[in-house]
Amino acid sequence: MTIAYLNGEFLPLSEAKISPMDRGFLFGDGIYEVIPSYAGKPVGLNGHLARMNDGLSAISITNPYSFEQWSDILTQLLRHNEARFPEGNIGIYFHISRGTDTKRYHAYPDNVSPTVFGFAFALPPAQPLSKDAVKPFKVALQEDKRWQRCHIKSTSLLGNVMHFQAGIDHGVNETILYNENKQVTEASSCNVFMVKDKVIYTPPLDNQLLPGITRSIAIEAFKRAELRVVENWFTTEDLLDADEVWLSSSSKELMPVVEVDGNTIADGNVGDMWEAAIKAYNAYKFLA
Ligand code: PLP
Repeated sequence: MTIAYLNGEFLPLSEAKISPMDRGFLFGDGIYEVIPSYAGKPVGLNGHLARMNDGLSAISITNPYSFEQWSDILTQLLRHNEARFPEGNIGIYFHISRGTDTKRYHAYPDNVSPTVFGFAFALPPAQPLSKDAVKPFKVALQEDKRWQRCHIKSTSLLGNVMHFQAGIDHGVNETILYNENKQVTEASSCNVFMVKDKVIYTPPLDNQLLPGITRSIAIEAFKRAELRVVENWFTTEDLLDADEVWLSSSSKELMPVVEVDGNTIADGNVGDMWEAAIKAYNAYKFLA
């Protein structure tokens, strides 16, 4: 059985219960993280915990634990669950809501303590390091209809869920989003990269996109491998004209995309730059 963590206790996931008056349930008032691990080794732990801390500060929730305490909970969740996931690819989900109140009232209440929940889930295996072995994605393209604070990893994910579902309804894997200036921002659950003439581009960080940990590890890995990477805006037109398009996220690492909104990217095959990029990422990911 999956062992979860709830407010100081490790227990079977099926026994983890929270009140319907929890503000996470009523308002989506909380912050979450997803931390990948392979063979017991987490990827980007410092970055994930730092981003969690930034998100909590942004919504005025006092971080209930120190870095060491979070790290200890993660280690224990991995240990409790490793027998259930013999392949060794385990994702850890952490969720901190503002807590449970006695009434439903929008203002941040005094005197509630955060609800802290964590559980382990089966992560897809790490990407193969060969372009012939990877299964690429096809994606939809939509104008971003979410809010103006996409840099906060909020549990209020209805906007993301609706964009993601639009892709599923079109028979594809994900949805890439663009703003009113037709600049690509991110995807509904991933960051976006494109390649043109051997240069890798990804949108710069601002309020329109999540500062993805995979994105930041990948950028550093590319620099170390002497692949040229530029953080700059590009448009949907640039995207459709790219030599390669990739998504990044903690569960997908770098995922090649061969079709966007029904348009084939380049010759429709996974590119050589993706292979160089995933090798660079793989060589660096546990050092980040
Ligand atoms: N952008 C959005 C909207 C996401 O939900 C995610 C991950 O869940 C990402 C980007 C990628 O972030 P990370 O690499 O930290 O998983």
